[in-house]
Parts: sequence; C-alpha cells; structure tokens
Amino acid sequence: MKGGRRGVGPSPGQQEPTSFPAVSATQTKEEVLLDMRAIGAELGWLTWPLDQGEKPGWEVIQRTLNGSQLYTYSVCNVGEREQDNWLRTTFIQRRPAASRVFVELQFIVRDCNSFDASSLTCKETFNLFTSESDADVGTTFRKGQFKKVATIAPDEITSKGEMRINTETRVVENLSRKGFYLAFQDIGACVALISTRVYYKTCPATVKSLASFPETVAGGENQALREVSGACVDNAVSEELPRIYCTVDGEWVVPVGQCQCKPGYEEVKDACQECQPGFFKAVASGDKCELCPANTQRLGSGALFCPCTDGFYRAPTDPSTGPCSGLPSAPRDLVATTTQLSAGKLLLTWGPPEDTGGRIDITYNIECQRCEGIVCQPCGEKIRYEPASTGLTDTKVSVSELDAHLNYTFIVEAHSGVSRFASQATPRSSRPPSTSALTTSLHYTDPPKITAMRLVERTSTSLSLSWDVSSRPRVRSIRYELTYRKKDDNLDVTTYVVLLLEKNFVQISDLAPGTAYLFRVQALGSDGSPGGSSIEEQFETSSEGRLTQNNPAVIFGAAVGGAAMLFIVVVILFLCRRRRNSNSRQGPEDTYFSSSEQLKPLKTYVDPHTYEDPNVAVLKFATEIHPSHITKQKVIGAGEFGEVYRGILKVPARKEVAVAIKTLKPGYTEKQRQDFLSEASIMGQFSHQNIIRLEGVVTKCKDFFKHAMIVTEYMENGALDRYLKDHDGEFPSFQLVGMLRGIAAGMKYLSDMSYVHRDLAARNILVNNTLECKVSDFGLSRVLEDEPEGTYTTSGGKIPIRWTAPEAIAYRKFTSASDVWSFGIVMWEVMAFGERPYWDMSNHEVMKAINEAFRLPAPMDCPSTVYQLMLQCWLQDRSKRPRFGDIVNLLDKLLRSPDSLKTIADFDPRISIRLPSTSGSDGSPFRSVSEWLESIKMSQYSENFACAGVVTMDHVLQMKNEDIKNIGVRLPGHLKRIAYSILGLKDQTSTLSVFAV
Ligand code: AMP
Repeated sequence: MKGGRRGVGPSPGQQEPTSFPAVSATQTKEEVLLDMRAIGAELGWLTWPLDQGEKPGWEVIQRTLNGSQLYTYSVCNVGEREQDNWLRTTFIQRRPAASRVFVELQFIVRDCNSFDASSLTCKETFNLFTSESDADVGTTFRKGQFKKVATIAPDEITSKGEMRINTETRVVENLSRKGFYLAFQDIGACVALISTRVYYKTCPATVKSLASFPETVAGGENQALREVSGACVDNAVSEELPRIYCTVDGEWVVPVGQCQCKPGYEEVKDACQECQPGFFKAVASGDKCELCPANTQRLGSGALFCPCTDGFYRAPTDPSTGPCSGLPSAPRDLVATTTQLSAGKLLLTWGPPEDTGGRIDITYNIECQRCEGIVCQPCGEKIRYEPASTGLTDTKVSVSELDAHLNYTFIVEAHSGVSRFASQATPRSSRPPSTSALTTSLHYTDPPKITAMRLVERTSTSLSLSWDVSSRPRVRSIRYELTYRKKDDNLDVTTYVVLLLEKNFVQISDLAPGTAYLFRVQALGSDGSPGGSSIEEQFETSSEGRLTQNNPAVIFGAAVGGAAMLFIVVVILFLCRRRRNSNSRQGPEDTYFSSSEQLKPLKTYVDPHTYEDPNVAVLKFATEIHPSHITKQKVIGAGEFGEVYRGILKVPARKEVAVAIKTLKPGYTEKQRQDFLSEASIMGQFSHQNIIRLEGVVTKCKDFFKHAMIVTEYMENGALDRYLKDHDGEFPSFQLVGMLRGIAAGMKYLSDMSYVHRDLAARNILVNNTLECKVSDFGLSRVLEDEPEGTYTTSGGKIPIRWTAPEAIAYRKFTSASDVWSFGIVMWEVMAFGERPYWDMSNHEVMKAINEAFRLPAPMDCPSTVYQLMLQCWLQDRSKRPRFGDIVNLLDKLLRSPDSLKTIADFDPRISIRLPSTSGSDGSPFRSVSEWLESIKMSQYSENFACAGVVTMDHVLQMKNEDIKNIGVRLPGHLKRIAYSILGLKDQTSTLSVFAV
C-alpha cells in the first residue's frame, strides 16, 4: 500500500494482508479514478456553505511547488466558533468491479498552538465523507447524504516556518452505484489539502502455472479473495478449470487446477515448447522432455516417444518410455551328457547368453529335432523333459525316452520378453543365426539293425553278398562285422572268419566250390561294440568250374567293390573240446583271407551293353520280384516306355514298402525291352543315399510284355523341377544348398564309379518326403533318341542342349566334367526354384551365347558363393572345372557355416527380369495389375492387390516393400519377386537394394 500508515490504527475499511502466499512478485496495479495534482488546473470542487460571509470556508489557492503550478484547497478559520465547512469533489465515476477504492490524501495541518488567543476552538483534524450516486448531481449538495469515512489527523503538525506534509490513505468500501463523491469537512482547523488521489487496485493479467488469467479488480471487504477462472496456454491441458484468487491488495494467490504441457511439449518461460529433436515426452506433465533412451530412434522435435531402432524391441510390460532391448545371443557351451543310457536319458546343460540384450527375464526353450539329411522333423510327444521344455530359468534340462539308434538335434533357445516380437518379424525358417538359437547335435546312436542279406553274385570259389540296414543314422560310416563259416554239421573243428567292413557289401573269394556257407552280419556301434540284431543266411558256391558270368571283367569289377573296404581280418579258431585234435575234415579251401587280397580299387560301373545278352546283366544286377508281390495303386507319371505307377511291394517276411513301378507298354520290340531293362541293370549297380534305389525287376513272366517292370523306391515329392516350381520361394538358401549337396554326393558316387550320367537336370532328380534328392533316370537310349529336351546333333544323337557342356555338344565328349557342367545348370535351376535355364531362348541362341562366353546370370537371392561355384562348373576348359568331390566338400563347408550364404550375388533384373517381367508379352506396358501379376506368376495375389485398392499399374509403381508385405504377401521369395519386378518396371536397376524381409 502506497504511503503506509504511521501512528494511526487501521480504519474499519482497511484490511490486514491475507495469509495466502502470493504466487509471484507481480506488482499490484493501481487504476486511478481521480488525481487532483494531475489535473493541474482549477478543479471546480464544490464548497459549502455557499454564502460564507466574512470568513470563507475552503478556498482554492494556487501555489508553486518545486516549480510547478499547484491548486490546493485550504481552510483556516481557527478561533471562529462552530465551523462546518465542506469541500466536495466532482462526481467520480466508478468502474463496475471497483467496489473498494483507496483515497490518498496529502495535507498540511497548522499547529493550533501557533495561534494565540483563538486556540481554544482550534482543531487539528478534518473529516472525510463519501456519498454514492448513480448520476452527477451537479451543484446540489446535501450534507445528510454523506457518510463519514474517517477523521483525518496529521502525523506531523506544521508550526511556524516549517511545513510538514502528511500522507494518509483511507479505504472506501462497498461501493455499488455508478459513482460517488468525496467530501472534506472542516470543523475549525487550519488545513491545506495538497493532493487527493482516488484509485482502486487490480490483479494484473497474468500467466500462472501455464494458465492465463485476465486483469481483475481486487475484491472488497465482502470478497476478500476474488476467484478468477483462467485458460491453459497453447499446448497445455488441465483436468479441471484453472482458477486463482485475487486478494484485496491486488495480489494473485492460490492457483487451483494446474495446467501441464501436452505430450511432446515442455514448459519454457510460461509457455509450452516442442521437445527438442532427440528428446521426447510421452504424457502431459510438468516434467521436462527426456533424452531418447538406449536403442531408440531419435525423431524430430515434438516427439511423443522414441521408437525402437531396428533389431530392438519393447515387451508389452516394458514402459514405452524405457530403453529397447535386443534379442539375447545364443546360449553358450551347450553340452549333452548321457546320464542313463538304458533309459535313453541325457542331461543338457548350457551357459547363459553372453549378451542378454539388456534384459533379465531370460528363459530357455528346448526343441528336439530328428534330422535326416537336410530335413528335420520334431521329435514328437514321446520325449520327456524335466523340469520342462519351455520357460526354463535354469540352464539345464534332463531329456529322457530317447531312442537309442537315432540322431537328435537339440536346439536351446534363449528367450526374453522381446523374443516374441522378433519371431513375429522374422519367420522361423529364415531365423538369422544371430538370434537366440544354438543348435547342437547329440549323436546318440546305437548300431543300426541289419534287415536283409542277399547274394549278389556267386562263382565256384567266391560269393558276393550285400545287406540292408534298418535306418540311416547320421553317422559318417557304419562298420559291419561279418562272420562266416562253412556249413558242416559234423565238424568238430569249426573255423570262423570274422571280417570288419566299412561297406554293406563284400566279395569273398577262395571258397570251396559247391559248398554251403553260413554268414552272419552285425553292425557295430559308433564305439565299435557290436549291437542290434544280427542276421544269418546260408549261401552256396557254384559247383567246381561253373562260372555264372561270361565276362571275367565283371567278376573282377564286382569283387573289388565289395572288398575294397575290408578293414581288419580276424580269424578265430574255435576248437571243440571233444575233438580238439581232429583236423580230418578241414580242407585247403579253408584258407584264411589276407587283407592284401581284399584291398582293391573301387567298384566300377559296368555298361550292361557290354553283355552279349543284356538279360544276363539284368539278372546279375537286379533282384527278380514276383509280380504277385507288387500292387499298383495309381499312375504318377509317364515314362519313356510306359506309365509310372505308385504301388506297394510286399515280399513275404519283409515289411511292405511304397515303390514306384515303371512299366513297359505292351507291343514293344525285344530291343526296346532290353533298353527298358538296361536302366535297371545300371541302377542295380548303385547303392548310395542320393541315387534312386532299385528294389528289383519283373522280367520272368510268361507274358513279359505286359508285366516287365522296374521297381524302385518311391519318392513322394516327384521330380525336383516341378517340386521347386510348386514351392517357389518357400525355402531359404540353406535348404536349397542342402538339396544340391545331396545331388552332388550322388554324382560324386557315380563319377567315382566312372559312370557318366549325360542327362543331369532337375527333372531327373527325384525328391522324397524328407526332401532328400536322388539322382535318377539312367536310361541309355534317351540321350540318343527320345529326350524331349534334346536336339539333334550332326552325329545323329539327341542332346539336352541347355544342360550340356559345349564339348559334349560339339564333339560328344561326355565325361564327368561334362556332368559337372550339367550340375552347374541344376544348381541354377534349384536356386531359381525350377526356372527354365536360359528362359525362352532357342537352343541355337543358347549355344551361340555359350560360345560367346555368356553364362546364366545369378538367380534372384542366390548366395554369391553358390553362384561362383556355378560359374566354375561352366568353365570352357573342362579340366579346370571342379570335380564332384570338390563340389561336395565346398557345399559341405557352406552348410557348416551358414554365414557364407549371407552375401547375395548381384542380381540384375534387366537380364534376369524375364522372371519378373517388366512389360507385357508384346513389350508394351502392362494394361492391368492382374496381367502384370500373371506375367510374374504371382496371380494368386490378384485379390490381395485389389482388396488393398491397388488397381492400376500407377498404384503398383508407388508400392514400397512394406506395402507389398502389408497386403498379405508373406513368403520371402514372393515378396522379392514382386519387389524386383516393380523395380524392373521403374527401370531403377541402379538403385537396387537387397529386399529386407
Ligand atoms: P522317368 O521315366 O524316370 O522320367 O519318370 C517319369 C515320371 O514318373 C517322373 O518325372 C516322376 O514324376 C515319376 N517318377 C519316376 N520315378 C519315380 C519314383 N521313384 N518316385 C516317384 N515318382 C517317380
């Protein structure tokens, strides 16, 4: 309050300051209604009584104070009785809210003592009155209408010679009418009124706690605190209406209902400002924006949150404002320990991941797979896990109920709260090795069982045997123990010969002619211990001098193959106790084998055409099956000589097996029949996991034209080219390379046997239900005659041009090196999911291009290492091409380190885009989305495009990879095909980026 009060207690209208805290130091504002000094001229105030006679009452006096003109009112009728002099102001307009005004007076009062005789009636005070009115009443003055406000007394009295100016402020309360008058009553003092200032107080317009409040007139006595509503500043919000109070002294106190800056904004100097780039604020609060946490993206200004950077995630329970976490790395040091072999029990232990991705909620899931070749299947319900197979917090699990003779692969996956999100983003098949999976294989193998032993060949002094194994666990090699002895019931001394072998066939020579021998074969476990059931068979050598073969070379060939793997020869002599000394029956034929005799070169393929009578070759290499053991079920294909059926082979005392049955159409010539059966003669010589297995033939039928059949193992998924076309884009490179590895292994086996296939192509590879690939089609005639892919050469044969090496086309130089060239083409077919090599180029164009050093470009998404291998297979100089052994080794290496498949060979849609076309068949732009989809063989997505509103090619051109995904194209291969095609359409090949899935 200006001026303050000194020495005089508060008048009834004055207020003590309230106890509320002032919200700021904002100056109270005074709105002036009347200021006597500021007028600077005659004020025209009314004096009363009007008729004042000798001694006038209040008078205007013009003075000069500090150089400026000043009008003051004075009265000084001391010594006069009954003074009642009034001075009334002009009408003072009131502002509607100003019910309480302050009256600040400056005045001088003369000391009564300074007057001598008259001092008895002398006064030293005067009175302040007020009167309200709705209108200016002019000169009308009625004393009775005025109410007294206060008696004004000076603090300091002016004596002679020195002038003391007093300042007093009084409050006039409860004003309610449009205006009012002030009046000063003198009752006999000597007073000079120097200044009168009338004002009211306001709380000035302000912003408190992010709410703005308008200027407000301070409340009066009845409303000491005036409640004022405000509004939040821009970008601030409040749950309740912001309010504040204006005190009588014009001060703001007690703000209620705080405003807070909206998400993305923070308070800066009574305003809300956007968060700086790299900062965020998620909720409306009084907090400052925070720096984006670890592993998040920094967005521009005003961010509400910071999204996770690629490869990092938040679990639903994670605060959206917290850091993002990565996937845990793979568990370490996975170890399997056999605890109870008999119960098929083992303990898996591992160490926690090196990198937990910043999380503590790590758990582990165990997955068990049984793998055959490259195809793995879940182990099934039977396996027991203790304590559980999922959600383990401990780093160990006990696994039981395992079968002794199978290979199990255990995958221990580290999971955390964010793993679920990563697996949603990444399909399981393409789970990168950097995810939380660690694969270890537990080779838990018992010796496999021998299921059948058969005689392959016999002479008077030798027997060639082979046998079948129940399953093919993934052990590198199985060893066999073959024991045999002469079958001689009356012998007292029996000689057992024990052979340790690495192959499932053997030729035993130097036997006695026309003699029966008993053979027992048993497979050995990985630790060398014999196990599984053994099988015993009796076979007899032919009588002295009678050879079953016309070709001695054949005997040699077969013999060396079986004996090559002889490892140890052990002879055990059992002497019967009773006849310990007897040796009377032991003949010279019981000589023991020496290892040197058995170590001969590998088995070589024998061309059945070298036989004078090809029927003999069939008999030699193929088992004759009785037609009654075969049931045809369904036609599955058309062979060169007749239909191919799926069927069942049920040989007495043997389990029935699914087979493919190739038939010979009735009416064929003997030559054609021989050609038909020659495939069996060839196939029958092979025994390899990646070569189609011959079960046998049906030849000995009266009506053989009707019944001649070749029976092979059944391959559920048929020909590889068709299979891949039907599953375009569905397999990751790793799996495709696994298929190629199988084919290469089969080809290595064939080339080791000096067999040249001449027609290696994806159409001649068969695929079974575990996706194992086997080389088939060993017909001899087809290369020369009816090959549909073939073209006539000048020498009269027919050659599958796009698969054949240039030297084989040019001068019929068919070798394993030319098979390697064909293998390169098969690699291309496989990596391109059955695409036709060289697309629609003619055979002539293909030959020309090859001679001009053109080679097929890398298929889409083909690992660089794989494409490099293809190019090696296609070297002009055949001696520089890799051999099948090299190819198997390299593919094995690639499969062992999947990282080697990560770098993708350059893919140039300008060349390779024939796959995803760039324009309609006539070269013109596509007229519709469905025409385009059809051209890239993706018609199945027509509806997806239509439903998403992508109905014109313009729409298509605007699509991003993400859009393609969003409309429901999920398979990585299809996504790429479509994306590349769009790129091709845009002709932006220079900006190709690898499509991220
Ligand atoms: P091929 O005469 O060997 O070319 O056989 C003709 C067709 O019959 C092949 O393309 C396959 O679709 C089918 N086929 C031949 N052998 C088998 C088999 N072992 N398992 C299943 N399908 C076969």
